[in-house]
Amino acid sequence: MISTNPFTEEHELLRQSFRQFVETEITPNVQRWEENKICEAEVFRKMGEQGFFGVSFPEEYGGSGMDMWSAVVISEELSKANIGGLAMSLYAHTYLPLPVINAIGTEEQKLKYLAPALKGEKIAALGITEPGAGSDVGGITTVAEDKGDHFVVNGSKMFITNGTMADFIVLAVRTGEGHTLSLLLFDTSTPGFSANAVHNKLGMHSSDTGQLYFENCIVPKSALLGEKDFGFYYIMSNFQEERLIAAVTGTAAADNALQKAKRYMHEREAFGRPLAKFQVLRHKIAKMAIHVEACRSLAYRAVAEYIEKGPGAYKIISIAKAYVCEESFNIINEALQIHGGWGYMEDFGLARSLRDIRLMTVGAGTTEIMHEIISKIEMDEVKHDKQLIKARG
Ligand SMILES: Cc1cc2nc3c(=O)[nH]c(=O)nc-3n(C[C@H](O)[C@H](O)[C@H](O)COP(=O)(O)OP(=O)(O)OC[C@H]3O[C@@H](n4cnc5c(N)ncnc54)[C@H](O)[C@@H]3O)c2cc1C
Repeated sequence: MISTNPFTEEHELLRQSFRQFVETEITPNVQRWEENKICEAEVFRKMGEQGFFGVSFPEEYGGSGMDMWSAVVISEELSKANIGGLAMSLYAHTYLPLPVINAIGTEEQKLKYLAPALKGEKIAALGITEPGAGSDVGGITTVAEDKGDHFVVNGSKMFITNGTMADFIVLAVRTGEGHTLSLLLFDTSTPGFSANAVHNKLGMHSSDTGQLYFENCIVPKSALLGEKDFGFYYIMSNFQEERLIAAVTGTAAADNALQKAKRYMHEREAFGRPLAKFQVLRHKIAKMAIHVEACRSLAYRAVAEYIEKGPGAYKIISIAKAYVCEESFNIINEALQIHGGWGYMEDFGLARSLRDIRLMTVGAGTTEIMHEIISKIEMDEVKHDKQLIKARG
């Protein structure tokens, strides 16, 4: 059972201090980062110094040891700055590569990578997608050849957030046939590594997106994350936090757009009266509010189940990710419509919100892949019921 308010006094104190951080360290830089099509490493350092990366990570590695609701607080407040690209860069550092290091890394690896990443001293990225393989993780061709005491890595990765800024990458590599993959902690200072910035994106402009190249990169065996050849299993079971954060962030972005639309309807007049007097627009607001609440309920339920079951909560997380990422686009699109021509301009921030939110049905597992996961679970439940009926005679 989820409480209607899952946030404690400690969460609210965190909210106040992070809100202050967003106002002083993020909002004044939004325009510059969007125009430059990249944020600066400095914002990672500042986030780390203040402990905002580590809220939900263990204290022994520099985190605060709070629960996942603390990550929700950070996501909700960051959404208010309406800079999806920066938010994605910060999440691609915290909630993509770091949970898997925390879950399966050795003590030495956690001290070398997790601790400095939580302090903002090292920037992290997750490298799975390739030019020829995204959803089909088993199609990865970047190879790590086993040379006894080291690997030699060759290949390339595509669309990697923080790709040109990262100090290290949790890298998915092929170490055998079929679905035989492994994860490596790859230092970007390794000779043979290079990265190009990918700038021609629809949105998420302030995030660094990279295409990465690996040419005969020598990687020590100590860089192996978890067991060799278990990479596919780790990818399938350890990447729930990015989907959870996507659901929370999408909800917050949609709610921001709803609030903007309501304010605008009171300010703008047409045919001699405020837009707020037109029933058709009021009903749009009602529908948007219904969908925002549905998004929030699903996202919060997914967080609550994740706290209880960990990655075992993947069914509700996939449902929340699929629903919120589709609906948040529709809600922001309606908010833009209510703003008329002004919505299409950059002035009200809705143009940026719409561009940025569009990625959500593609990144962190597409909507179609979420549907695959959900349908498999649903159909297996029927199979299981049939087997039980048969077994009972
Ligand atoms: C801005 C940006 C940032 C990103 N950041 C990262 C990152 O940090 N790290 C990283 O590893 N990746 C990252 N990605 C990659 C992202 O995760 C992939 O783009 C996504 O997983 C989809 O893969 P794809 O682009 O190869 O599309 P494809 O897998 O080729 O899919 C194309 C279409 O086919 C559909 N499809 C594929 N398989 C099936 C199926 N079995 N059933 C039904 N439909 C299917 C998909 O849903 C999609 O609609 C990023 C992408 C972008 C654009």
